[in-house]
Amino acid sequence: MAVDSFSAKARKISANIGAHYVDNARTLPWRTPPGGDLPNPYHVWLSEVMLQQTTAGAVKSYFEKFIRRWPTVQDLARADEADLMAAWAGLGYYARARNLHKCAVHITENMNGIFPQKESELLKLPGVGAYTAAAIAAIAFGERAVVVDANIERLVARLFAIDTPLPKGKAEIRSAMDAITPDRGAGDFAQACMDIGATICTSKNPKCDICPVQEQCVAHAIRDEEAYPVKAPKKEKPVRRARFFWIEQRGQLLLSTRPPKGMLGGMRALPDDGWAAGNDGHARPPLAGKWQVHDNIVQHSFTHFSLEVDLAVYQDEKFVTDMVSQFWWPLDNIAEAGLPTLFAKAVKWKTERET
Ligand code: SF4
Repeated sequence: MAVDSFSAKARKISANIGAHYVDNARTLPWRTPPGGDLPNPYHVWLSEVMLQQTTAGAVKSYFEKFIRRWPTVQDLARADEADLMAAWAGLGYYARARNLHKCAVHITENMNGIFPQKESELLKLPGVGAYTAAAIAAIAFGERAVVVDANIERLVARLFAIDTPLPKGKAEIRSAMDAITPDRGAGDFAQACMDIGATICTSKNPKCDICPVQEQCVAHAIRDEEAYPVKAPKKEKPVRRARFFWIEQRGQLLLSTRPPKGMLGGMRALPDDGWAAGNDGHARPPLAGKWQVHDNIVQHSFTHFSLEVDLAVYQDEKFVTDMVSQFWWPLDNIAEAGLPTLFAKAVKWKTERET
């Protein structure tokens, strides 16, 4: 396409998306209305970290809980890390929660509790990557930054029928997003694109009939919307095995605090057989006695592998332990323990068998 007609198309896309947002913006607790005051940077940062790999619908209640409990970045910096991890439980990708705390402490102690405004400065914060820095700069501070999340990636890949497979195609998608991002209102524009990607230009069955950029969309013109973005073929994930240990007495369940470093670090969990070190677990119980083993009660998918979990249930009455970092938790209040989803699934399996 000639440069002039590309620019004309980019301007049209930009204008249509901007106009659509005025009447169709999703109401989300971390946002301000289109064209209104810029939102609180703490809210934008917190929501953007939560939204990585997670849908807005799932994030809403977590965001509200965090803001109620820790209304400012300084409050979050003062939070007990175990409490923060427990409040995060269920959102997954727990390294995000640890970095959240680290970043809150950094901003409070080294920046007087004030977020930097420039994308380049935001990028230096712990746990803030290219996407999050661009999103905060654009949405909270009005900087013209180019924001590309998974929803925007799909929308832009379809608009321009970008056929270089991901991840290589990301550079082309970013440059196309750069071309359609307006000089003013980049934050609203990014959020408008996110909304269209989440609600109209969906992975399956996009609603092209109500799409504000249908006329400019190449994928739609060739009636091949779902072919974009083109993805490199997926590698099969390796399967690993783990064993969790269920030790219960007088209505209480034995839990442990996981080591601070490593997978699900610092979180409360059932005792397990060390699978998180990178291999299958060793399956050896933590104490001698009679155990009943239930095979493959939970399957869980991580980014780079799948995990199949056996549950070993302690059968003896008497229980003596000298294990460190372990404590009893009332089973009728287990929902408050803030167990990661993987362990919560095992608890659910076990408690449902008994009802
Ligand atoms: Fe997506 Fe369809 Fe709109 Fe193209 S026309 S951007 S495929 S919803």
